Amino acid sequence: MCEDCTSGPTRRALVGWAGALAVAATSGFSATPAMAAGGPKTDLTADAALAKLKAGNARYVADAQVCASDLGGQRHHVAGGQAPWATILSCADSRVPPELLFGGLGLGELFVARNAGNLVDTATTGTIEYGAAVLGVPLIVVMGHQRCGAVAAACDVAVKNATFPGSIGEMIEPIVPAALAVKESGGDFVVAAAKENARRTAARLLERSTIVADLVRQGKVKVTAAYYELDSGKVEFLA
Ligand SMILES: [Zn+2]
Repeated sequence: MCEDCTSGPTRRALVGWAGALAVAATSGFSATPAMAAGGPKTDLTADAALAKLKAGNARYVADAQVCASDLGGQRHHVAGGQAPWATILSCADSRVPPELLFGGLGLGELFVARNAGNLVDTATTGTIEYGAAVLGVPLIVVMGHQRCGAVAAACDVAVKNATFPGSIGEMIEPIVPAALAVKESGGDFVVAAAKENARRTAARLLERSTIVADLVRQGKVKVTAAYYELDSGKVEFLA
């Protein structure tokens, strides 16, 4: 059984009812009653949340195991409300489940948005804004990964003028500038493009979202890019 099965939501210090929209109000965000999350928020700072992610990933790399302890109990504990402490924007790739690669985290720990290529569109931006402004999540991680099919496709567009059917071509368009920027940088092209895409997506989130940008300016939220290596299981947090 992994550590967080018992030290996660059931033993997290609850900080009292800070007001469902306390963070939202100071960010200029106005939520309707239907949007209010109404419950205690996490008491972790962004730096503490980042340290917890790093420790969880180290645990996963050292001894990868599936945390399935007392999921019923966890469900009961968080059914009435959530206080996630990190938002992860990751790829839809089946090999990149954030809860597992950060050490087997339980229900109610991570607020997760996923799509192929870990991109910010209207849906993911709104999702991340809700996590930050309403749920009080202090840390946002945009995480690319090794051998990402969406990034590889964008690399093919960048250097081979490849085309893709349906909505796939339009979907990967935001990745193409990242691929073009690193195509002469040497090393593994797709790896470099995945890292550059994660960095650019994190920056794009701040451009798209005044809510998130304001929270970052106030020191209440941090945004970082990261890269997950399938082979080793390691998550590298990018500058
Ligand atoms: Zn991917």
